Amino acid sequence: MLVAVPKEIYPGEKRVALIPQSLPALTKAGLEVVIEAGAGEGINSKDADFEAQGARVEQDRHRLLSQADIVLMVRGPGSDPDFPAADLDALKEGTTLISFTEPLAQPEIMKKLAERKLTVFSMELMPRTTRAQSMDALSSMATIAGYKAVLAAADASPKLFPMFMTAAGTITPSRVFILGAGVAGLQAIATARRLGAVVEAFDIRPVVKEEVESLGAKFVQLEMDADEAQDSGGYATAQSEDFYRRQQELLAERIKNSDVVITTAAVPGKKSPVLISEEVVAGMRPGSVIVDIAADKGGNCAVTKPGEKIVHKGVIVIGPLNIPAEVPVHASQMYAKNISTFLLHMVKEGKLKLDLEDEITKGAMVAHQGQVVHEAVLAALKEA
Ligand code: NAD
Repeated sequence: MLVAVPKEIYPGEKRVALIPQSLPALTKAGLEVVIEAGAGEGINSKDADFEAQGARVEQDRHRLLSQADIVLMVRGPGSDPDFPAADLDALKEGTTLISFTEPLAQPEIMKKLAERKLTVFSMELMPRTTRAQSMDALSSMATIAGYKAVLAAADASPKLFPMFMTAAGTITPSRVFILGAGVAGLQAIATARRLGAVVEAFDIRPVVKEEVESLGAKFVQLEMDADEAQDSGGYATAQSEDFYRRQQELLAERIKNSDVVITTAAVPGKKSPVLISEEVVAGMRPGSVIVDIAADKGGNCAVTKPGEKIVHKGVIVIGPLNIPAEVPVHASQMYAKNISTFLLHMVKEGKLKLDLEDEITKGAMVAHQGQVVHEAVLAALKEA
């Protein structure tokens, strides 16, 4: 079967779905890998590097896509709002597409892909189970985002992170507050601690307290309990507007006393909750920094401008978009491992054999044989 890896075309996207080192496992499994010329430019991998590991290089994108049985991408349709119609037109019926696709935010696009008779797997829908851990691209990218957000904050801050005891006096460490202690938040805690900051964190899911403390941060307790803060998949559940308002009030003092706030709070398929109001930002000390990792899902801070770094009443507010693309080499290495492990999970004797009872295959499948098949995507379609 022919596995095609096109060059990513989303503006600023430097990642690529496979790296040269990931090819031998695929060719050994009987797959033929063809990459578009220049696909590895963003990670400094030349076409020859892919060829040396067993890939063929195709100059013509349309020809590449029209031959493909399986297409591997980072940003598929849905994940790229301007995904070219010509790319979709090039694919033959029955082609399997595996990529990020934003299936819950873009259910209408998923319906169109189903109608095009493509089989679509969304990396976002990978079950968060121990079995699927090596295929969990969301965790890989969140790890990078958490790390990089702290570096962005340290770079923007007019203060040092660590404590210094020098002949010129003692420098007190920066106080960093992390809102949301999922994969990105925990990595942000670890990174800020490594840089010597004093770190506190809060998450709506109290189960993360131990993890937060094991990384050397203090878990902040609020005088409020969410109704069923966590669903069966380990994700946070959406709360009422009243709940978020009360949470804003309770967090306000803590935020105002922080030098840096990193926000990572997200609820799958929903707009991110606003946890920092304009008023609270205005009450922070000038020179404080907020890095809002949730910027691409609306943001956790009311004044965040997605994709921009602004100064609001003296407070630096950074709303980064697509952070993993800023670390394309390791982001691609991790993504390639995740996507190729997933692909190999479904390949037997050189052929794609879809076991629709398998929780991983079924869990990540959005569209198959002309239908949208994922329950959450079907529910999102009804709401749309
Ligand atoms: P996410 O990106 O959906 O959300 C980030 C964090 O924001 C979560 O910890 C969430 O609880 C938090 N949050 C949501 N609303 C909030 C609010 N109002 N206030 C404060 N925090 C809020 O989550 P994620 O990082 O992708 O993963 C969430 C969890 O999934 C993990 O912590 C873990 O328990 C589970 N998980 C399991 C596996 C596995 O078993 N293989 C892998 C990855 C994640």
